[in-house]
Amino acid sequence: MSGGPEHVLVVGAGLGGIRTVEQLRQAGYEGRISLVGAEAHPPYDRPPLSKQLLAGDWEAERLALKEEAALEDLGVRMYLGLRAVALRPGEVELADGAVLTADAIVLAPGVEARRLPGQPEGVHTLRTLDDALTLRDELDKASTLLVVGAGFIGAEVASTAIGKGVQVTMVEAAPVPLVRGLGAEVGALAARLIREGGVDLRTGVALTGFVEPSGAGVAVELADGSRIEADVALVGIGGRPDLGWLADAGLDLTDGIPCDAQGRVLGLDGVWAVGDAAAWDYPAQGGRHRHEHWTSTADQATIVARAITGTEAPPATVPYFWSDQFGLKIQLIGRPDLADGIVPLHGEGLSGGAVKGTVAGYLRGDRLVAVAGFGAARYIARYRALLLAEADRAQALEFAASLRR
Ligand SMILES: Cc1cc2nc3c(=O)[nH]c(=O)nc-3n(C[C@H](O)[C@H](O)[C@H](O)COP(=O)(O)OP(=O)(O)OC[C@H]3O[C@@H](n4cnc5c(N)ncnc54)[C@H](O)[C@@H]3O)c2cc1C
Repeated sequence: MSGGPEHVLVVGAGLGGIRTVEQLRQAGYEGRISLVGAEAHPPYDRPPLSKQLLAGDWEAERLALKEEAALEDLGVRMYLGLRAVALRPGEVELADGAVLTADAIVLAPGVEARRLPGQPEGVHTLRTLDDALTLRDELDKASTLLVVGAGFIGAEVASTAIGKGVQVTMVEAAPVPLVRGLGAEVGALAARLIREGGVDLRTGVALTGFVEPSGAGVAVELADGSRIEADVALVGIGGRPDLGWLADAGLDLTDGIPCDAQGRVLGLDGVWAVGDAAAWDYPAQGGRHRHEHWTSTADQATIVARAITGTEAPPATVPYFWSDQFGLKIQLIGRPDLADGIVPLHGEGLSGGAVKGTVAGYLRGDRLVAVAGFGAARYIARYRALLLAEADRAQALEFAASLRR
């Protein structure tokens, strides 16, 4: 590649950061690259934190997103264990006072785990490798776990804990788990999966606060007056971008870093953003949206690297998310949050039958906007083309029937 920036600076050494670096090199970029990361660890993968690592099946080394030698081959200068504390035109200031200048800057800071007001220090959240290792140590000694919030991470931790022989109680304020992400009907299916997996799931009841436990461990009180005690507690109520360091950059950071459809940060020249913290514009899907998905982060890194290097944009993709829990893979493609209706496509789960093998289509009006599957991997990938083609309900049903024939 000729032309283009002389130095690309990437802030955030997680998935989005390292994928951006890799994609820059893949696109032929030969200039300088620097990667700044607040954590001391080289880039690692987060999905196994609540699954294989927590279960004790994998050790931390296996989570590395790049082997040491491969990292060296990328020719990237790493600044690990150092937080970026300010962004100014063409430069980033680090926590140790150093100022790095660059002609292209990519922001990939991810999100931090949300905590509850008054959450005691010893009550866990799960976002980082260090969080997961601490939680694993405690779970190994525990016989009971309380999970607050029935989101994907809470459900995965509950599933892993059950696998370790720990009794799990889960409290969720909404009437069903994942109601915002999956909607009420599919959320009810997720509730069945969690309960059939052996969890004491209590929905529709809010936590009023942490109280003094009768022994060691943690105690909470619920709005219905009940009280739960457990050896260990995890709060899994989602993530939020931690963008205080961008406060003086002149951006509206209400819900993440505002970007155009190629990841350029609005109003800032030469700055891009990818990953969980980045709110990209999706004009055909109703505007700005912040995905917190592994695959979307990797896809965005490719788009940004190609934009920086002036190489051809990759083909369009469909958002994809997976979660492994209670022996099933839940898979989601498309944008269920845009839907106003559901159509059963495979399996019996939505009418009270087995959860496994159930596939639901999400409709906005007559148009298919997403598909969710529970233990139905052989079907899910095949709906990608249908979503890209903006298929309607009749086409979705016909396609489902053709897959069964
Ligand atoms: C436990 C867990 C399980 C998951 N499971 C799944 C799954 O099954 N399927 C799925 O699709 N997705 C899953 N995800 C989500 C997926 O891991 C994320 O979408 C992905 O990691 C996002 O990448 P990112 O680069 O935006 O953020 P991250 O991977 O979080 O990396 C951001 C990095 O930037 C650093 N940083 C933040 N601020 C600064 C700063 N100011 N200066 C320097 N560095 C900074 C952070 O410390 C962090 O290391 C899971 C996430 C977690 C936590």
